[in-house]
Amino acid sequence: MPWTQIDSHFLAWCHIAGSVAPWIGSFIYHLFMNIKKPPSFYQRLLQLDMLGIWVSQSFGALPMVCASVYCLPRVLQWLIISCYCIFAIVGLFKAMSASSPWNRRLCFALPFLMRNLLCVLRLTKYGGGDPSCITYVILQDLLSVVGGAIGAVNIPEKWFPGCLDLYLNSHNIMHVLVVLAVYCMYHSASSDLVWMSSQGSCNRLLIPSIKSISDQESFEHDLL
Ligand SMILES: [Zn+2]
Repeated sequence: MPWTQIDSHFLAWCHIAGSVAPWIGSFIYHLFMNIKKPPSFYQRLLQLDMLGIWVSQSFGALPMVCASVYCLPRVLQWLIISCYCIFAIVGLFKAMSASSPWNRRLCFALPFLMRNLLCVLRLTKYGGGDPSCITYVILQDLLSVVGGAIGAVNIPEKWFPGCLDLYLNSHNIMHVLVVLAVYCMYHSASSDLVWMSSQGSCNRLLIPSIKSISDQESFEHDLL
């Protein structure tokens, strides 16, 4: 992380937690999933895996959420961030009780939808965030959605039964896509954190008003 250029070390740590947590959960899940234990043990492992993904989706996404609303009025900023936190907490409860692969993925639908709306906000003049990292912002969610969908529909191993048990199966592909998504998340989060710490990052909103003032001044000067 470019620590010296970042003011909010809390948000930087949120990003680090969000990048590392899915791998801890996934590693423990895959390491112990073959142990002969009752189904409840396997269920606990799945919950741990889901918790890792949840940390990535909630804490990991906070730099992007905060940067997107950075140029809005304070009240609106807090309202949107609080809303995102509530959606994330609802998602956590759903994730811990989900029973099917699709249900496990749909737990993250509300925060995902909100990130999409924030992405649209970033494209308008009211949105914040480093404009140069918009491709990474879009890719970080797009890649994880494609990965999640491939993992749930069991493609391509259902077309080649028994041939892709060791590699190139849907779960395998999903993990590779998620690595790429986290790589994009790193680029967007670090750029956004540096952008939020730089002076006058929201100045483009002020430019029209400053311009109109200077226009008015030159108009008055002409009159005089
Ligand atoms: Zn896995």
